[in-house]
Amino acid sequence: MENWIKDKGHPWIISGPCSAESPEQLEQTCLQLAEGGIRTLRAGVWKPRTRPHQFEGVGAIALEWIKEIKTAHPSLSFAVEVATPEHVERCLKAGIDILWIGARTTVNPFNVQELADVLKGVNIPVLVKNPVNPDLALWMGAIERIMHAGITQIGAIHRGFSSFQKSKYRNMPLWQIPLELKTLHPSLPLICDPSHIAGKRALLQEIAQRAMDMNYDGLMIESHIHPESALSDAEQQLTPKALLSLLANLSIRSASS
Ligand code: PEP
Ligand code: MN
Repeated sequence: MENWIKDKGHPWIISGPCSAESPEQLEQTCLQLAEGGIRTLRAGVWKPRTRPHQFEGVGAIALEWIKEIKTAHPSLSFAVEVATPEHVERCLKAGIDILWIGARTTVNPFNVQELADVLKGVNIPVLVKNPVNPDLALWMGAIERIMHAGITQIGAIHRGFSSFQKSKYRNMPLWQIPLELKTLHPSLPLICDPSHIAGKRALLQEIAQRAMDMNYDGLMIESHIHPESALSDAEQQLTPKALLSLLANLSIRSASS
């Protein structure tokens, strides 16, 4: 499998809100990012929450908001999390450009296989987040299921691993796990998600820099027009302006490295 992300430049930046909350919040966040040169946006539509009674996303209506932004700004691409075959079908119908499988879905082979089955014969990039638990085989298994469905543009997202131990991180980075994945699959593009590793804004810069130092292919970082009032992951999201300044402060190896 070729490293399809490297063709897009180095690193590939994906940013946007944890959750799409309203047409205005989504549009303002995305347009400010676009003004700063970000071309790939993310937006959570259906949110997998660990506990009930938390904001679970606005659902399929957000796909309509995304469609409107894409119609007005055709150079922008959108990535959306999918957890069920119905999510995949709705995203494909709405013209979503990139799908990602979340950490709570990657843990379940039945669930991943259902997604793989509905992706057979479909040509769309799919990013696979690591499972919540530090299990490299489970991560690889999910990637292989998507690969066997015939998807050729696959990337892995490192979002950290949950632990009962107290740590400064929301999810422990355990950098050796993605490193081993990369050793086993050298051409598999690897993207770091500092937002879900950090859980708080103050740690994002150092985690993003570490990923760049380790020659990751891209970064997925959450941003929100008003992070402090976000309906999910308020403590880790950056304003678009802060996101652009984080990127400007990164020291990045040359594109050929
Ligand atoms: C997210 O990207 O907003 C998300 C829910 O991530 P994860 O699956 O890594 O927890
Ligand atoms: Mn989030």
